[in-house]
Amino acid sequence: MRNMSRKEYEQYPAPTGALLKWYDENRRILPWREDPAPYHIWLSEVMLQQTRVDTVISYYNRFLEQLPDIRALAEAEEEQLLKLWQGLGYYSRIRNMHKAARQVMEDCGGVLPSDPKELQKLSGIGPYAAAAIASIAYGVPVPSVDGNLLRVFARTTGYRESIRTPGAKKAAESHYRNLLPEDRPGDMNQALMDLGATICLPNGAPDCGRCPWSGFCEAFRTGEQESLPVKEEKKTRKVQKRTVFLIEAAPADPDTSSPGPAYALRKRPARGLLANLWEFPGTDGHLTEDDARQHLESLGFEVHSLTGLPSARHIFSHVEWDMRGYLVHAEAPAESAGLVYATKKEMEQLYSIPTAFRFYLSLLE
Ligand code: SF4
Repeated sequence: MRNMSRKEYEQYPAPTGALLKWYDENRRILPWREDPAPYHIWLSEVMLQQTRVDTVISYYNRFLEQLPDIRALAEAEEEQLLKLWQGLGYYSRIRNMHKAARQVMEDCGGVLPSDPKELQKLSGIGPYAAAAIASIAYGVPVPSVDGNLLRVFARTTGYRESIRTPGAKKAAESHYRNLLPEDRPGDMNQALMDLGATICLPNGAPDCGRCPWSGFCEAFRTGEQESLPVKEEKKTRKVQKRTVFLIEAAPADPDTSSPGPAYALRKRPARGLLANLWEFPGTDGHLTEDDARQHLESLGFEVHSLTGLPSARHIFSHVEWDMRGYLVHAEAPAESAGLVYATKKEMEQLYSIPTAFRFYLSLLE
């Protein structure tokens, strides 16, 4: 355990000092932390990739008893390695590590590199393990961001985008980079690992009452611990262009006429989006004035005038309508193909018109 004075903790940014102090007083005692040689940190990171800490400890000790350094690992027979790994599963981890140990012996003079980029050239070492090894074993100030750190990042900063994107990882790295102390980057990364593993737990169960970061945490301030982090990818909505007609028409059958201006409505199909609701007639695509006139004439309307209306947009869960509108004065066809005519008042009282058309409904007299 490090013994730092209060003044020493205060030399860091406040969240860094608070977390390091908590770590110094509460950190988990783990064998690789007691002797953080590069090979030890590497082995622990490989074992921890898919396995819980409690299980890893005995495997880690047994492995080091038999293969105490990189040379021993490089020269080991695969059979011995598989035996040492038996029960941990995901055997590709040890096969890759074996291969990497040989690479280190052949290409790096038997010394594990300290540069995260060089580390990532070795078999089985990804960005997270590279950063963990570099920071913990060599003191390189680089954040090692995994799922735990992403969760803590989202909660402490109130990050409301999905954390399952490269953008989220970049944002988290940049956030943590600003908090990493030059003299203790490995301890800071390990403190964050411990915070995520023991206090800021997943599935809406963080122990905020014991958290050293509650005073710096946006989710704690706003009570959003349960809703953060956001894990869903933002769905990209399909944009559909539509043309909507507000047709003020004299109906061919005078019995269907109503007092006041009446506008054409039609019922949507019985299946699909907004099934069986009423809508203003329209069609797919953005029609020009000429195309709109032609379209209406093809339906039997005798168009007297056509005036462009402002555009409108409506967002459904998977689709977005980008609507262009026209106000039309026309003679209705004798066969009106499912159209009815209604005044604005009748629309409001008798017809179920979805909010997607609210804007155009509001334009009516
Ligand atoms: S205050 Fe709660 S939500 Fe915020 S970092 Fe701490 S444990 Fe996580």
